[in-house]
Amino acid sequence: RIVFVNGEFVPYEEARISIMDRGFLFGDGIYEVAAVLGGRLVDNDAHLARLVRCLGEIGIENPYPVAEWAQLEEELVKRNGLVEGLVYMEVTRGVWERDFPFPPADVKPTVVMFTQEKSITGSKLAETGAKVITVPDLRWKRRDIKSVALLAQVLAKQEAAKAGVSEAWMVEDGYVTEGGSSTAFIITKDGRIVTRPLSNAILPGITRQAVMHLAEEQGLTLEERLFTVEEALDAAEAFYTSASAFVMPTVEMDGKPIADGKPGPLTRRLRALYLDMAQATNSG
Ligand code: PLP
Repeated sequence: RIVFVNGEFVPYEEARISIMDRGFLFGDGIYEVAAVLGGRLVDNDAHLARLVRCLGEIGIENPYPVAEWAQLEEELVKRNGLVEGLVYMEVTRGVWERDFPFPPADVKPTVVMFTQEKSITGSKLAETGAKVITVPDLRWKRRDIKSVALLAQVLAKQEAAKAGVSEAWMVEDGYVTEGGSSTAFIITKDGRIVTRPLSNAILPGITRQAVMHLAEEQGLTLEERLFTVEEALDAAEAFYTSASAFVMPTVEMDGKPIADGKPGPLTRRLRALYLDMAQATNSG
């Protein structure tokens, strides 16, 4: 297994970063995850645009132009012979004696990338549908930044794991914000696809954006608004989206079935459309 650390491709066993890395000490960094399908990156321009934006939001200088990022990712995918799975990228504010303010400007950010094999298209869970629980959203107020400080999500998703379900939907003031590592959607009984509007309260999901675009193309009705836990339980369908799950039907919430407890027809259609799009992007 080959990983990328600070400008070099090295075997995983040889990869090293300092204990003084600010990512380790403070969670002072951001990350990005993109899917790989048929050996090609899915919707990667959008992922890299978000990476660049997040770096800017926390004042870390972008270490590579976008084209070079893409080349490095492709090289990593190739070196690992990855056909289907994920590319993980992380940039931290670098290594310096532990102190809260930013280190001197000449301290270089730390860059780490690795791949993970994962069957996304052949997901068994997508056929039966995922179960979720709701948990309080304990996060900070800049959730639009893909920060590596993920303690709230670790705790939320551990609750989900303990309950034997796949995802935790986080709730604030009675409204669903998003999943621990996904965007939450419901479909109302009159066929409206509802998801929370972008703001500092959620991460701008790349899969969310792609799915909304596909839904629009199909002439489906989209509604960007807040929705409650009760509304989700009363929905005709529900699903969540992420680069690592694509479109995942959600069939149970807090132990109660959503509609008939099976993946809904519109959700299945959106999953199929997304898969087509991802595969087409690839061959293009
Ligand atoms: N929301 C959160 C909190 C996430 O961590 C993620 C992905 O990890 C998403 C949404 C989905 O984003 P994307 O579709 O870009 O993977």
